Amino acid sequence: MSDFKMIEGVNIKIRKLDFICDAPARSFICKTLGHNSHAGCFYCRSIGKTVDRRVVYPTTAGESRTAEDYRTGSESNQRAGPSPLMQLPGLEFPQCIPPDYMHLVCLGTVRKLFHFLFATDDGRHCKLRPSDIAALSDEVQKVAPFTPSEFQRRPRRIDRELSHFKASELKNFVLYFGPVIFRRFLPVLLYKNFLLLHFAIYVFMTPELLSHPEIFRYAAAALTMFVSDAHKLYGNSVMSHNTHVLLHLPEFVRSFGSLSNFCAFPFENYLSHLKKRLRVTRFTTAHLLAQMLNVREMLTTNPASSLRYSPTPKPPNNCCVIGDNIVRISAVHGNGEVTGVILQFNGGLYEYPYTSELLRIGYYCDSRQTITGMPKKKCIMLPQPICCLVVPLVSEDLN
Ligand SMILES: [Zn+2]
Repeated sequence: MSDFKMIEGVNIKIRKLDFICDAPARSFICKTLGHNSHAGCFYCRSIGKTVDRRVVYPTTAGESRTAEDYRTGSESNQRAGPSPLMQLPGLEFPQCIPPDYMHLVCLGTVRKLFHFLFATDDGRHCKLRPSDIAALSDEVQKVAPFTPSEFQRRPRRIDRELSHFKASELKNFVLYFGPVIFRRFLPVLLYKNFLLLHFAIYVFMTPELLSHPEIFRYAAAALTMFVSDAHKLYGNSVMSHNTHVLLHLPEFVRSFGSLSNFCAFPFENYLSHLKKRLRVTRFTTAHLLAQMLNVREMLTTNPASSLRYSPTPKPPNNCCVIGDNIVRISAVHGNGEVTGVILQFNGGLYEYPYTSELLRIGYYCDSRQTITGMPKKKCIMLPQPICCLVVPLVSEDLN
């Protein structure tokens, strides 16, 4: 699509048009059946069945829906003819509306999984004992002070705060804290099932890992296995629309790149900033656009470090990646460069479904070498009896 559009006096060249929305919004703008319908998958023709008054979706993806059938209004999930969106040139259903990672994975799958494990009666046979959940929450409190400044909030106790967890907190558990903390508390099969989801999402959030086709294939396989194993472990009630749509995530990562390229987190994060900047009651779209362009120019012309928050020699901001090295920072220089000790890999955190060394997650010890350079990304560094445990941050948490 390459076309100029005039919106409230501003001439905008539209290069590509995609929509980021949750399942109810997608169904609304596309005029398709809702996610609780039997034919509610926007991406494939799988049919769910009703079990115990809830729709249970298959653990495998069905035949893909096609842009042509959507255009003619003949897809089986369309309510009454094609959506008005189809009149926009170059817009191809379903490829232009990827599943949103924030709603699908964090608020959908991870929250459901946590309720099975820690809270609801649905997963009674899987639920941990209250004493274990309390002990696990104590561990969460111990790692909380080591949360880098990039995180909007420190992890909270699962036993008391689970029902108040925000999407970003659920994300932090699946990417960073869960593999470290759950290892001691979850039964082996449940922990392995959680690791499948963690591994896939971590890879899908990290562009440098996605550039390795083999690692991408591992992640896609892990996600498929997560869905099938979750069904075996938690029963039909886990096979909601969200869990099924996970099966379609790899094809969108292949097209769009990292999950951070098509998720609602930036919109959520910047909503309050935009609201603060909105000082007019007329021509609001044009005003907002001008404000956003100002901010973008400011960010792109600022020569400061690419990190949102500066590293420091003190925890929790004292570990970063320089080049290919994980570094414990000892000094910060005026030009944004840092000096520190290179940490040496000393063993992975887990070996299933693949070794965590692939993600550079693991135990590290100080080497005798130091390095000075510009930090590429920060890492969470948790002190251990011997060495320390390092988990590098993924792309979304860097800018
Ligand atoms: Zn599907």
